Amino acid sequence: MLVGVLALQGDVREHIHALTDLGVVAAPVRTYEEIAKVAALVIPGGESTTIAKLARSFGLFDLLVERIRGGMPTYGSCAGMILLADRVANLAHDQETFGGLDITVRRNAFGRQVDSFEEDLHFSGISDVPIKGIFIRAPWVEQVGPQVEVLAEVEIEGVAHPVAVRAGHLLATSFHPEISGDNRIHKFFVEEVCSDLSRI
Ligand code: GLN
Repeated sequence: MLVGVLALQGDVREHIHALTDLGVVAAPVRTYEEIAKVAALVIPGGESTTIAKLARSFGLFDLLVERIRGGMPTYGSCAGMILLADRVANLAHDQETFGGLDITVRRNAFGRQVDSFEEDLHFSGISDVPIKGIFIRAPWVEQVGPQVEVLAEVEIEGVAHPVAVRAGHLLATSFHPEISGDNRIHKFFVEEVCSDLSRI
């Protein structure tokens, strides 16, 4: 199984390292042909507006929408989460997302005080040892549809905000496991989310 990392902008190399460390065959993908043939995809952190614009101008946008909605297992971290969201609460002017995940996200949700921070997270479905979440101008999830499972949350002023969600073949985290040196989220993606390859 070849896992592609969408290589238009963002921290592509870090995701490739995390996947190859797990023994997964992973490669950057940036052309129509490359995206058309991968079994699964990772959309990295970076800048969601830039990634969407580049996907449009390189003629990849509709293919990505089609493949993501068509059942290709896809994991989005941070900007990748925004790009998988069906709705963005504070949409930048003319910003588009690929969609597929029935969630509403808020970009840069944690505000200036905590622009970037780390927090130990309990991640449902992964062992009891907490996951170190690294958040960099991260979104949070404001609303989830009935098919969406919340896997991790961060509490701010007594309110729990989802920061990891899954719906079937789609997984998204507000944080960046690719720079934490802990591959358990990537392992979860490959072993759990990609396990039903009959769909692709
Ligand atoms: N704030 C960025 C965006 O809106 C995401 C930041 C990140 O991926 N670290 O796309």
